[in-house]
Amino acid sequence: MSMFCFQCQETAGNAGCKVKGVCGKTDVVANLQDLLIFVTKGIAVVADKARGQGIALDNKTGQFMTTAIFTTITNANFDEAAIIARIRQALKVRDALKAGICPSCGCDSSSAPECVTWSADTDDKIRMKAAYVGVLTTENEDIRSLRELIMYGVKGLSAYAEHAWQLGYEDPAIYDHIVTALSKTTQDLPVDELVGLTLKTGEYVVKTLALLDKANTTTYGKPEITKVNLGVRKNPGILISGHDLRDMEDLLEQTRGTGVDVYTHSEMLPANYYPKFKKYDNLAGNYGSSWWHQNQDFESFNGPVLMTTNCIIPVKGSYLNRLFTTGAAGYPGAKHIGERPMGGRKDFSEIIKLAKTCPAPKEIETGTLVGGFAHDQVLALADKVVAAVKSGAIKRFVVMAGCDGRMKDRQYFTDVANALPKDTIILTAGCAKYRYNKLPLGDIGGIPRVLDAGQCNDSYSLAVIALKLKEVFGLDDINKLPISYDIAWYEQKAVAVLLALLYLGVKNIRLGPTLPAFLSPNVAKVLVEKFNIKPTATAAADVSAIMAGV
Ligand code: SF4
Ligand code: SF4
Repeated sequence: MSMFCFQCQETAGNAGCKVKGVCGKTDVVANLQDLLIFVTKGIAVVADKARGQGIALDNKTGQFMTTAIFTTITNANFDEAAIIARIRQALKVRDALKAGICPSCGCDSSSAPECVTWSADTDDKIRMKAAYVGVLTTENEDIRSLRELIMYGVKGLSAYAEHAWQLGYEDPAIYDHIVTALSKTTQDLPVDELVGLTLKTGEYVVKTLALLDKANTTTYGKPEITKVNLGVRKNPGILISGHDLRDMEDLLEQTRGTGVDVYTHSEMLPANYYPKFKKYDNLAGNYGSSWWHQNQDFESFNGPVLMTTNCIIPVKGSYLNRLFTTGAAGYPGAKHIGERPMGGRKDFSEIIKLAKTCPAPKEIETGTLVGGFAHDQVLALADKVVAAVKSGAIKRFVVMAGCDGRMKDRQYFTDVANALPKDTIILTAGCAKYRYNKLPLGDIGGIPRVLDAGQCNDSYSLAVIALKLKEVFGLDDINKLPISYDIAWYEQKAVAVLLALLYLGVKNIRLGPTLPAFLSPNVAKVLVEKFNIKPTATAAADVSAIMAGV
């Protein structure tokens, strides 16, 4: 075994990647990511001690932690050099914090955790250490399971917090929770306390999703119901993927009037729903499908591709020279666009210059997709929706949010969408939608049967809608609503969203296509007993159970 990683749904044998990641991550990159988490935990432990001495965490450190953690999310960064650079920065951040606190705190004592004391001054020493700090260093499988459940929730939360601060929205309490969660995972805590910390993390995911929702809607307007073009124009284009709306803004601004069109891919599709982006006439629509179709979509696109976040798949040589990364994303051989200067914009001129030399995208489909059903739009239709529920025209809502992925078993989600009776509405967010958003599922009295709220973080919208419906129907429990949850997960943002739903009291969630490998049998049992989480079964069995409210 030269690595160990079990953080995503596609982990080898639903047990763990041990030699190379199914995602394409090498053992070296996997280990370096473990070391980046290790030193970031060191920052957290020192920041926790500083807090005890009345020294509050500054936002700059909070920002650094979110970006460092985000770098380790599945499919975000495959670049050894970039991760080593981040580890070196993390050591500096940790040591600067140490220098600012009272030496009597014991940070350098032999009893301090190694993540606080370990250091290295060469890349070789960093690489050597990386193989010895992974998740298997926690021997007890239940403690390991809970520590990683918390860590993966924090990974998702960090990604969302990073998007929010890029737009100027921060909440020090969120950074404080990251410090608390990470430092506690270095301590010998009993199972009960770790279960409590897991739910606490869900609470902070809700706060972070709300903050990001505020950041996005205040900056770019409230998403509107929008028909998104799927065809292509004759101009050369740039394809932008990932989740970072600030990058989207910078790119649209810099391409305006240049004769270069901008198309969204995968999780960037919902950018088309925002009023501020709709004003750019060079925003041409969406191209292609979910993240794992990149090879075919990027090849036929012909022009440059900008990955603003995860999810990147191993890159084919045929388009590597057209692939650019930015932010927490990275791929060896792809040009990385650096940070935006204070108060300025990222410099995308090289991408635009390249686009002008490329042929226009090849058309792979035509037509439109309808989306933009975030909470404000759906709540504006609340009277219509409530009337349809009361009249029996809508029997049930099925939340099918989350991620798409390569596994054949994910056909299940298409089959469920097809098999659900015509008086049901699917509420979706995240790239899971690509399994059914192009099916002719029709509408109920003008309300489309698939309501897309947006990116995975817009699962927050689905929770707001559920809470509002609970109020309108005068119910005392969110679980009494005619809503079922059939969630597709893949990476750690989906873990964060799951913890948010649990914190909000949602029970009876179906989770697929497999339960997380990082849940030990005992931890899985706790989740089943407390929340009645269940694995997806067959589409036919699950649709019958969903319609029976089970
Ligand atoms: S992220 Fe997933 S596929 Fe990649 S190494 Fe980890 S478990 Fe394996
Ligand atoms: S929903 Fe998850 S899998 Fe899909 S693009 Fe977003 S982060 Fe990746």
